[in-house]
Amino acid sequence: MQPAPAQRPIEGGVLSTVARRSLQRAGLADLAERVLAGERLSFDDGVRLFRTRELAAVGALANVVRERRHGDLTWFNRNLHVNATNVCEADCIFCSFSRLKTGDAAAYTMTLDEVIGRVRAQRDQFVTELHTVNGLNPDLPWSYYLDFLHAVKAERPDLHIKGYTAVEIHYFAEKYGKTYEQVLTELRDAGLGSLPGGGAEIFATRARRKLCSDKVDSDGWLEVHRTAHRLGMRSNCTMLFGSIETFEERVDHILRLRELQDETGGFQTFIPLKFHNENNRLRKLPEPTDADCLQTMAVSRLLFDNVAHIKAYWPMLGVQLAQLSLSYGVDDLDGTVKEERIYHMAGARTPQELTRGELVGLIRRAGRIPVERDTLYRTVAEA
Ligand code: SF4
Repeated sequence: MQPAPAQRPIEGGVLSTVARRSLQRAGLADLAERVLAGERLSFDDGVRLFRTRELAAVGALANVVRERRHGDLTWFNRNLHVNATNVCEADCIFCSFSRLKTGDAAAYTMTLDEVIGRVRAQRDQFVTELHTVNGLNPDLPWSYYLDFLHAVKAERPDLHIKGYTAVEIHYFAEKYGKTYEQVLTELRDAGLGSLPGGGAEIFATRARRKLCSDKVDSDGWLEVHRTAHRLGMRSNCTMLFGSIETFEERVDHILRLRELQDETGGFQTFIPLKFHNENNRLRKLPEPTDADCLQTMAVSRLLFDNVAHIKAYWPMLGVQLAQLSLSYGVDDLDGTVKEERIYHMAGARTPQELTRGELVGLIRRAGRIPVERDTLYRTVAEA
């Protein structure tokens, strides 16, 4: 790694005097100057930002970038989660959601009638998005997924369906003998609107081998999103942080996403996902501290300069920490969610859903302006 450049006082920008002093104390004044000048940060910059203990200063710098992009505007949506099956033949050691085989205790696969029942139960609710991600179920035919999409669209044509991680798309391609393009085109034609960002975990081979050796590798994950973007679909991207990865591996992960974004421009939002340690094989590892979570949000905002939004996924992060993160580079609080399963099975203590009023109140109390959006960040209403 390069030695830190000589420090100079920070000039200009809208950083407070206190933040400037702490950035100087942390040896980050040169980096802050470059951020304020709109310059792109490097790998070494990212590692320095993760290593410093001056969390408030890093947060203040990220907040400058957030406010230059969005002012006080803070997005959320009204969405419904449907995890249609948790049967999964992969063996990710951080996962608390999956069950290996159909018939195992707590394994489930919804029938299409059950899926439609969930959607129908929201008939009188204003919901704009259905989010669906699932286990890699070896017992389902390809038609299950197409029928799922057709059935949801027939019931609620107005719903945008954001579904199937790159891990699932890769699995479908292998299992059903199709290319990524064929899988994505058939899903899109059946009603899929965009891709979620899950399954990225950590791209670095060392960590990925330990965490999730039997699912798509990082190149495959990126190629699925590259293909989706080429087909005109938007997607999100994520990073699982706080388990076994190093700061260098976090930075490497963010920069690989930034590179693809330079190429395609198809990512809408980056969602750093906090590792949870209950009911999985990493239960002896401590979960990341609140300070680490906030710093990761802030560094993400500073490094990932070509993605519009940084999202705090409140079911994983915790409601209060998600609210606090709105001063650490975050500008999106996800949505109402309605029945989150994946992280609650990993020990998340957050509610199963938040109402629109609760989300609006959280954002207002953080001194920000709530904006209800749809999946593609079109404004539904300023709250
Ligand atoms: S993280 Fe996804 S792919 Fe991995 S075991 Fe869990 S459900 Fe399966």
